[in-house]
Amino acid sequence: MSRAQFDLVMCLKQPGTTIGKVCERCDGRCPGCDSLVNSKKMARICDDCSFGNFADRCIICGGKGFTEAYYCSECVRTEKDRDGCPKVTSLGSSRVDMFYEKKKKGQ
Ligand SMILES: [Zn+2]
Ligand SMILES: [Zn+2]
Ligand SMILES: [Zn+2]
Repeated sequence: MSRAQFDLVMCLKQPGTTIGKVCERCDGRCPGCDSLVNSKKMARICDDCSFGNFADRCIICGGKGFTEAYYCSECVRTEKDRDGCPKVTSLGSSRVDMFYEKKKKGQ
């Protein structure tokens, strides 16, 4: 089962210093490609995803945060880890996020 079928999009904003969390169910799963092997590098999330309602939430499914999220070696090799914040956001809120992001940059 892949989450690709659910039309989920990733946040992809500039990552901050906070390490993303995954829940017990997603422990060991790569936030870039869902691989369960070769955990390689801690996944950093953006500032917007590291506090408020999203703090300590699983970046893949939104469940209760359990442990740090890691990219697999394949995603590090292809530099997918540099795409930005890997937290999954719903399609509905991505526009709003982009709006706020623009506003912030304008300051
Ligand atoms: Zn991966
Ligand atoms: Zn984010
Ligand atoms: Zn999860």
